[in-house]
Amino acid sequence: MSEKLIYIKSYGCQMNVYDSNRIKDLFLDKGYKITDDVNKANLTVLNTCHIREKAVEKVYSDIGRIKKIKDTNKDMHLVVAGCVAQAEGNEIKKRSPVVDYVVGPQSYHKLPDMIDELEPPLNSDFLQNEKFKNLIYNSSKISSEFLSIQEGCDKFCSFCVVPYTRGPEFSRPISDIVSEAKKYVSNGVKEIILLGQNVNAYHGATDDGKSKDLAYLINKIAEIDDVKRIRYMTSHPIDMKESLINAHAENLKLMPFLHLPIQSGSDQILKKMNRKHTVDDYLRIVDKIRNVRPDIAMSSDFIVGFPDETDKDFENTMKFIEKVKFVIAYSFTYSSRPGTPAQHKDNVELSVKKARLSALQSLLTQQQVNYNKSFLHKDMEVLFEKKGRYENQFIGRTIYNQSTFINSKEKLLNKILNVKITNSTNYSLECQA
Ligand code: SAM
Ligand code: SF4
Repeated sequence: MSEKLIYIKSYGCQMNVYDSNRIKDLFLDKGYKITDDVNKANLTVLNTCHIREKAVEKVYSDIGRIKKIKDTNKDMHLVVAGCVAQAEGNEIKKRSPVVDYVVGPQSYHKLPDMIDELEPPLNSDFLQNEKFKNLIYNSSKISSEFLSIQEGCDKFCSFCVVPYTRGPEFSRPISDIVSEAKKYVSNGVKEIILLGQNVNAYHGATDDGKSKDLAYLINKIAEIDDVKRIRYMTSHPIDMKESLINAHAENLKLMPFLHLPIQSGSDQILKKMNRKHTVDDYLRIVDKIRNVRPDIAMSSDFIVGFPDETDKDFENTMKFIEKVKFVIAYSFTYSSRPGTPAQHKDNVELSVKKARLSALQSLLTQQQVNYNKSFLHKDMEVLFEKKGRYENQFIGRTIYNQSTFINSKEKLLNKILNVKITNSTNYSLECQA
């Protein structure tokens, strides 16, 4: 019998990338091989994202495309996994009968049994504990690996689907995380990126049942000799504890980069978003962390055109960005999401949303360009993670998470080197060894 091939497409956030890696591992263990060619796949998995409407539309258009392939490749099974599966499970089956299996983000460990018909073809249970115990953890990359430590969210921001799609907050036990990190570094990985929807709300248990925070976990992982770099994302301002801020001063393996979404620079809008923090709260955190780690690189997320956002609210967001200065940031126009409290209030015109997004992104790009320029001719430490588009080109990351490329005939993959920055473009740096 010929070997079975699995094709996986991941949409959305890093947590989905991590989940897709685990799905790959489950099926590699069953004897499948990975293919990049969906036409040849026996099993196609779409690991979907529900965060904005556009991401969902993309899934349905991909299902349409795969339906045509399935018409000729009768052996293929199609799985919709991830947050769209969780939110729209039954609807997907009704709207697209071509989909064979539907599985949510907290039950995908059951997928092999679903395909062997030992489990029903639709599962949207929240089985976080059981899931993590039944997954397989092999490294997919050579230098830097994502590691999910926390799932779900209890914060219920009024625009966000995550509490409904990923379920309640759940923290994995410390020893499970440490052994997963050890497994990755034993394969050569040098950087561990700890993931969670609210990663700094982490409160996992030790073997004797004591609850510990993210700073404790970071320090435990740093004790592993071969771990050279640690990062974490995504954090929420209300969970930015002193212990974590101090870890940035004390733990040299913890990279000086903080992704801390604020969403808006207007207190009125933050209140309507149910964010539970003010602009001043955020600024106080920035002060504290810059106090202990002056070179920390700040990053954030912004939503423009949230219901009732006025020109004045938006101006405040722009002033806030000018004040903090971000090295990078992600920004979106508000997208009304089913089942969220803000769903029916989408009252800012699309043209206004787009104009605000464009102004905000210009400001953020200018800040990023200025930041990158400030490193010209300086020495930086870079971990080279992958090959570039051109021969002898390698791409890596500085300690501040900037993308950096180099041309070299040496084998630089998975090496940490001190390099000189020779050029800065809008979104990346160029360097020489
Ligand atoms: N937990 C993180 C936090 O507290 O900010 C964010 C997680 S969410 C997966 C990633 C980003 O998507 C958010 O920070 C927000 O900027 C954006 N986002 C979430 N819901 C959105 C919506 N309905 N419309 C536009 N952007 C949205
Ligand atoms: Fe969504 Fe808010 Fe939870 Fe972040 S904190 S995942 S934005 S509900």
